[in-house]
Amino acid sequence: STSLREPDCIFCRIVAGEIPSERVHEDSEVIAFRDLSPQAPVHVLVVPREHRRDVRELRARPELLSRIVEVAEEVASAQADGDFRLIFNTGANAGQTVFHVHAHVLAGGPLAEGAL
Ligand code: 5GP
Ligand code: ZN
Repeated sequence: STSLREPDCIFCRIVAGEIPSERVHEDSEVIAFRDLSPQAPVHVLVVPREHRRDVRELRARPELLSRIVEVAEEVASAQADGDFRLIFNTGANAGQTVFHVHAHVLAGGPLAEGAL
């Protein structure tokens, strides 16, 4: 699954370890690391190792989407009280800036409405 790599993708480079990140979880399918610009006390990105542009492309990989949700739960339990907000910005008009699918996990609330 690691072979699905896109040249010049920043998150493919983070997955490969070519750009440093503060990882809080990794397994054979996904990694999770702290966002550079946190919008909540806990702000972690859960990213599949294989390159997919956005969550629409994950419809082809339902078990991987399921795994991302499971890791989000684990991160929220390990880093906060277990409650979390899960956000997939999908497309530029929705605020997506990195086109390698990622779930924002926001936790450590109470969280303000409208974050991200
Ligand atoms: P998007 O707007 O695409 O949903 O979110 C992209 C997120 O990636 C942003 O919250 C941004 O702060 C984060 N980000 C961008 N580049 C890097 C990076 O090199 N390292 C880390 N840890 N986060 C990044
Ligand atoms: Zn990528």
